[in-house]
Amino acid sequence: MRLGDNCVICNKRKEEGLHIANSFICFTCENKIVELDENDLMYHTLVKQMRNLSSNFIRK
Ligand SMILES: [Zn+2]
Repeated sequence: MRLGDNCVICNKRKEEGLHIANSFICFTCENKIVELDENDLMYHTLVKQMRNLSSNFIRK
């Protein structure tokens, strides 16, 4: 296991987070996604980003 990675959402290097396919979402951003309201524009941006990550995962 590598120690930390660059988060695809905030672009910061963090030690704790989720690895999805070849992408990484830090713990902070993951919590942000959970707290976001469905009507929040940021939510849709993140969901779109997550879908892209999932499609990469499926292709693999
Ligand atoms: Zn992040």
